[in-house]
Amino acid sequence: MEKIANAVARTTEKAVQQCVNHACGASYALRERLYVCAKCGETLEIECRLTPPGDPSEIRARWAAARANPKSPRDASGVWRFLELLPFDEDAPFVTLFEGNTPLFRAPRSANYCGLADLRLKHQGYNPTGSFKDTGMASAITQAVISGARTAVCASTGNTAASLAAYAARANFLAAILLPRGQVSAAKLAQSLDYGALVLEIDGNFDDCMRLIQELGDDPAIYVANSINPFRIEGQKTVAFELMEQCSWQVPDHVVVPGGNMGNSTALGKGFQELLALGLIRRLPRLSVIQAEGAAPVARLFATLTAAQRAGDEELPEKLQAVENPKTLATAIKIGAPVSWKKALRAVVRSRGQVIAVTEQEIADAKAIIGRDSIGCEPASATTVAGIKRLVAAGHIQPGEDVVAVLTGHMLKDPDYISNYHRGTLVPDSASKEAGAQAAPIRGAFQNSPARVAATKSAILAALKQRQ
Ligand SMILES: [Zn+2]
Repeated sequence: MEKIANAVARTTEKAVQQCVNHACGASYALRERLYVCAKCGETLEIECRLTPPGDPSEIRARWAAARANPKSPRDASGVWRFLELLPFDEDAPFVTLFEGNTPLFRAPRSANYCGLADLRLKHQGYNPTGSFKDTGMASAITQAVISGARTAVCASTGNTAASLAAYAARANFLAAILLPRGQVSAAKLAQSLDYGALVLEIDGNFDDCMRLIQELGDDPAIYVANSINPFRIEGQKTVAFELMEQCSWQVPDHVVVPGGNMGNSTALGKGFQELLALGLIRRLPRLSVIQAEGAAPVARLFATLTAAQRAGDEELPEKLQAVENPKTLATAIKIGAPVSWKKALRAVVRSRGQVIAVTEQEIADAKAIIGRDSIGCEPASATTVAGIKRLVAAGHIQPGEDVVAVLTGHMLKDPDYISNYHRGTLVPDSASKEAGAQAAPIRGAFQNSPARVAATKSAILAALKQRQ
């Protein structure tokens, strides 16, 4: 066991926090509590200094054994069983709710819809709080414990808040969630309330909440768990490791993810890159990111890149034009100024992938076809299937290629959306609505509205016959 656990040897300093701005190049020790570069203000990335294992099959065997026959909570976690590739020591105070270990489904109806022979869906919505945020929160809250903080804060109205609330509770932390007063639905807060978080409704907008989070970060007792936190990417990157296990280490041709704050694509890109550097895989899958048309700053930027920039032969742009007032019903990716865009774009270009945008109609129908595959997901996750359909039509993905899409949130995260789609009352989150005009509802290609029938056997049999 010891011998295998040490299969990936480490240098004395196992990892550092590295500024992503090449021109700055500053790096910081892991224990330094900062969330952006102190010199230039750019985001930070954890750079793990790993030595390739002599025999990759040894480390793969240990991971597989831990999953098949867990001997500790650490082994049973889909994050912590990959400790060799994470910037934490053996004796770290691991926080876990048994995150990860999520299923990889075959989705024949979705494959057919996209024009593919086969399609697999890696469902991160099967995590403890129902979203992909949990893998990253396990690592971030563990780092928070190490840092000596007692309180964790974030500004979020959805999945991040629920995940932070759950992991903070597990670590005996107080979680504080900052929200703009009157702009958040009660349903989205239900999880955070149940996990015991302090939910603070601020007299201000979301930008005010973000400013307050940054100010609070200076307090040594408070840990900021927003997506800018580089330790979250570390837990999230394990999805790449677990996916490769599930693919028997045969690298898919394409991995496709939704793009909001771009943390997920950053994490996947980093995970695959580390596996490549360690010789655990021989090539990278093409990583493509799909955004919603009304919140697609990175897709817009990608469309302006030169062939040389897309091939990685020329420097990528330093600036991203933010979308001032993002619009989409896929609220989990309704983000106009994604914090991790630079890291994500680098990962896409390195793997020769694409960043594109899809319409609200495409998202809604893709979501319904995923449902028909008996899988289901939240709206943002369905951008993947909508995007794959487009990428196949455009010739970027070939019909016989091996494609995996990552679904990020559970179907029950947004039940109103589903109900409205099937009843024909799903109204787009459009600019015209603000201007006072009534937007037309989305016409669902797979609409399945409930039928009203009389309380008789014959009426039910007639309804059944109609469906057959
Ligand atoms: Zn810097």
